Amino acid sequence: MAAKVYTIASGKGGTGKSTTTVNLGTSLALLGKKTVVIDADIGMANLGLLLGLERSQITLHEVLSGKAEVSEAVYEGPAGLKVVPCGISLQGFQNSDPEKLQEVMKTLSEDVDFMLFDAPAGISKDGVIPLAIADQVLLVVNPELSSMADSLKTKILTEMLGGEVGGAILNRAGMERTEINKQKVSDLLGVKVLEMIPEDPNVRRSAAFKTPIVIKTPNSPAAIAFQRLAAQLAGTEFVEPTDESRAREGFAGRLARVLFGGK
Ligand code: ADP
Ligand code: MG
Repeated sequence: MAAKVYTIASGKGGTGKSTTTVNLGTSLALLGKKTVVIDADIGMANLGLLLGLERSQITLHEVLSGKAEVSEAVYEGPAGLKVVPCGISLQGFQNSDPEKLQEVMKTLSEDVDFMLFDAPAGISKDGVIPLAIADQVLLVVNPELSSMADSLKTKILTEMLGGEVGGAILNRAGMERTEINKQKVSDLLGVKVLEMIPEDPNVRRSAAFKTPIVIKTPNSPAAIAFQRLAAQLAGTEFVEPTDESRAREGFAGRLARVLFGGK
């Protein structure tokens, strides 16, 4: 069965693409879906860092430079998630041929249900190819006008390339006291907002533990939103956590705050 391929993009850096890729991928794996996440941000890779795989010797760089087979660059992540991390050296980036990403996709799609590409910011060649090869591009936007403008540009570019935008994810909702809400995003971008991920200090904490928030604090607000999004993509029903489990999370959250700081 061929995989459903998504590219997690935004245009702008720092909107939450890598966070979304890791947590959506892990949530799909937790639902029992065979899932692979690929760090296609080959110039500024950090998916491996978020999953504790930063020391991997064979990465997407080696695959895109013809030095290794795709299968050699696949590592095991949380909940059985498959991960293709990318190296961080400038030389690795220079030696990589982004055109080879399509082959990578074909090879990996043979035995997974879902494939998620973490796209780079910007519109250079390495940024454009993931937009063109996915079944659907998901735009991660923040509630700021600059983020909207860049995402709109990414949407137009995707369509020019013959790709398709499947929807937007409004991340860090509540970060600013702006009037930008789900409806505004949907009107501005002309796409459906699939989910709103709230600003949540647990995101940063779980990153420090190199563990996805959906594993570390699964009942925290952002984790719940990521799981709801995964259920939507997988076509399964999401069972909202009970108040009791949220309260337990509350204690863990308070403890984490005492130990690691934050709001
Ligand atoms: P990108 O891959 O688009 O550059 P990242 O996923 O690396 O963005 O996120 C950028 C920063 O924002 C990281 O420090 C991350 O921990 C933080 N972040 C992302 N989403 C949230 C959120 N919902 N709540 C709080 N912090 C977030
Ligand atoms: Mg990133």
